Amino acid sequence: MNERCRECGRGLTADEIAVTRKLINRGARSFYCVDCLAAYFEVTPEEIRERIAYFRQSGCTLFAPAGTPAG
Ligand SMILES: [Zn+2]
Repeated sequence: MNERCRECGRGLTADEIAVTRKLINRGARSFYCVDCLAAYFEVTPEEIRERIAYFRQSGCTLFAPAGTPAG
């Protein structure tokens, strides 16, 4: 995937795309990096990363298994 953050233009990882879908809209077509998601939700980037870890741990199919190279 070669998606870029809608806000800052940074290249996104598969996890960032997945967490955008989880937090904003499953059908989202524009995506945000962790930093911009954190700003959007007024939380810290660490909290977004914790969400990613939580979703992965709970077996969400949007997230690649741990250890899979991002992107
Ligand atoms: Zn961004």
